[in-house]
Amino acid sequence: MLNEVFTADIEVKLRSGEASYLLRLYRKERASGRQATIAMLNSEVMKTYGPHLVVLEETGEGEYAFLYAGARVPDHDGQPITGKTTAAIASRTAELYRLGCREAHELNDAICINHVTSPTSSVHHWECLFLPMEDSAHRRMFVTLCMPRETKDDFLRNLLDNTPEAFVAASAMRDSHGEVVDAVVLFANKVAAELTGHSRTDEIIGTSMMRLFGDVASAGGWDRNLTVLRSGKPAQFEFHHRSKNESRWLFVSSNPSKDGVLASFHDITDQKRAQLEIEHQKKILMDEMEQRRGLEQELWALAHLDPLTSLPNRRAFRDSALVKLAESQTAHRPLALISLDIDHFKHINDAYGHGAGDTVLRRVADVLKAPLRPNTDMAARVGGEEFAVILPDTDIDSAIAFAEKLRRRIEQTVVVVGEHEIRPTISLGVAMNRKSSNLDELVDRSDRALYTAKRTGRNKVCTEVEVQAKSGDSANAAA
Ligand code: GH3
Ligand code: MG
Ligand code: MG
Repeated sequence: MLNEVFTADIEVKLRSGEASYLLRLYRKERASGRQATIAMLNSEVMKTYGPHLVVLEETGEGEYAFLYAGARVPDHDGQPITGKTTAAIASRTAELYRLGCREAHELNDAICINHVTSPTSSVHHWECLFLPMEDSAHRRMFVTLCMPRETKDDFLRNLLDNTPEAFVAASAMRDSHGEVVDAVVLFANKVAAELTGHSRTDEIIGTSMMRLFGDVASAGGWDRNLTVLRSGKPAQFEFHHRSKNESRWLFVSSNPSKDGVLASFHDITDQKRAQLEIEHQKKILMDEMEQRRGLEQELWALAHLDPLTSLPNRRAFRDSALVKLAESQTAHRPLALISLDIDHFKHINDAYGHGAGDTVLRRVADVLKAPLRPNTDMAARVGGEEFAVILPDTDIDSAIAFAEKLRRRIEQTVVVVGEHEIRPTISLGVAMNRKSSNLDELVDRSDRALYTAKRTGRNKVCTEVEVQAKSGDSANAAA
């Protein structure tokens, strides 16, 4: 029990309108400096305040007699307290009256006591005004007015009604097999009522959760709560709540409670909309970036790839070959270059048409690509029907073997165009990197080897050595 005594500024401390009004009357009575008399309690005052009023008289030894107790004053053990004394009633109540009368007497003015009983369970919080007075015979009297203040439930209710979150407590409803099928709302706060399109909480108390959130069953709102009810395990989730003319996103925290569920709903529509907008913008940006990447790739391909065969073009070949050549020279590693050209290609064009020529070019390119080591070797289309293959870390024997393999594969290739079977061949020239080679010089040597292959019969592989031998032959022949 708690008794909080106020002797100063009680005008501002009083909460109840009744106590404030009675205090004003009392102050008016005492304005002249005289003691107030109980004549102040005229019929008009009694009509309004009588039910809450208690009039006490001091009986000596610090005890008081109850001369009058209004109808709303709590009884003592089921009996009215009128006629009893503080010595004869429950000690807590008696203590309140003794304290109030004593303090009011000492101050000779109004005092107020905030009186709390049973602070553990249901709290009763009273505001008690004590007014010292006297009767016409100058006997000392005390008039008290006790008004209930808010209870713990009221505080909780206030708290719940003023939070931005919606709270619903519901009790499970079961079918004949004991299976939870629905829940009935036992408690809901104001926000919960508003959220479900109602103006007052009592409109939703007693209704079924399924009906309340039925229109969101498909969105999983009620289903998830049902799962909490059935499993007894708490859950937190988001769902999209659509009512007649509104659509909101809610964050739900659902907790099992005895044979029911306690759920709080937090409106996250603004965050969700912002999040969705961000995602939308992000998607637009990603699409734009994707598109740009595509365009960049297209541009890159236009600049670096031959559109007919998709092989690197002459420019890409030169850029890459310069790098590979420099690397091999720095590392003192061998590097081979093969120049190759389709034999009598003009004849293919002339005999079967330009389209057939193109098909042959594509097939030759495919054959060239197949045996390349990824990220190391490179084949390119460097002219009309001319190709080049660069082979880093490859010695002369391996390069010749590789060139021979290409030659053989092309020779075995049959390009079918309509009813015609075209069997292309190629001539190849192999040159090796030397210490002081530059690219042009290396290309020149492989081209000359290729020229030798052409000159000496086509569909064959020649090397620089053979170039020298052949030029030696012609020099000899000339001599
Ligand atoms: P050789 O065996 O000496 O190399 O004889 P060739 O007929 O292959 O050589 P030539 O240089 O006389 O002819 C090459 C032909 O390739 C001439 C040209 O019209 C053709 N050509 C160049 N580019 C393309 C192309 O992209 N498509 C087609 N179909 N033909 C092309
Ligand atoms: Mg040719
Ligand atoms: Mg040619």
